[in-house]
Amino acid sequence: MIVAGELRGGRSFHARKVTFARLTRENVTPPLWKSARVGYLSYVPPETVEVRRSTRRRRTVSAYRDGDKTIVLLPAGLSTTDEEQWVRRMLERLNAKEQRRRPSDDDLLGRATELATRHLDGKAMPTSVRWVENQRHRWGSCTPDHGTIRLSTRLRGMPAWVVDYVIMHELVHLLVPSHGPRFWELVERYPRAERARGFLEGFSMGSSGASEEW
Ligand SMILES: [Zn+2]
Repeated sequence: MIVAGELRGGRSFHARKVTFARLTRENVTPPLWKSARVGYLSYVPPETVEVRRSTRRRRTVSAYRDGDKTIVLLPAGLSTTDEEQWVRRMLERLNAKEQRRRPSDDDLLGRATELATRHLDGKAMPTSVRWVENQRHRWGSCTPDHGTIRLSTRLRGMPAWVVDYVIMHELVHLLVPSHGPRFWELVERYPRAERARGFLEGFSMGSSGASEEW
């Protein structure tokens, strides 16, 4: 997804040598992290924001997600203050767009029901699937007794097939609580299980370095 913005006014930029800054929460030391200078990073806490400047770019600003990174493209010559404002604005726009695109809880329940029907012979029917904000170390969780599934909002904006994999994982937990051979045998019925695990592992490595619990 790409969002774009226009710089207002007929500003002119002088060219200067361009480098791009790579800032992550990990390589920014705490005092700097707290400063206003990199305050915008708090909009996407575990993600890497890459600011790229281009001399060819004159008036347009754009931003997009590239895997677990967010790339913000800016014209060379934009002042540091302007850069910060634009990065902040573009991250807000991306987030707003993803919020709109984010499937509702009802959509998630529909998808879960479809996955259960297609891959689990309709045996694991959830009663609710909803987004939760407070799962920092888990992508999903469930309560088998109630048939409820919860997904971390950190999954939003990820490809649908990755979100579906997490739903599938939790659906199987409704039938099999532990991660034994029977559990994985059922999970593997989801055709892109292996790829989705790779995607999520790469995301975890790139963001926090912490392994995910399920
Ligand atoms: Zn699990």
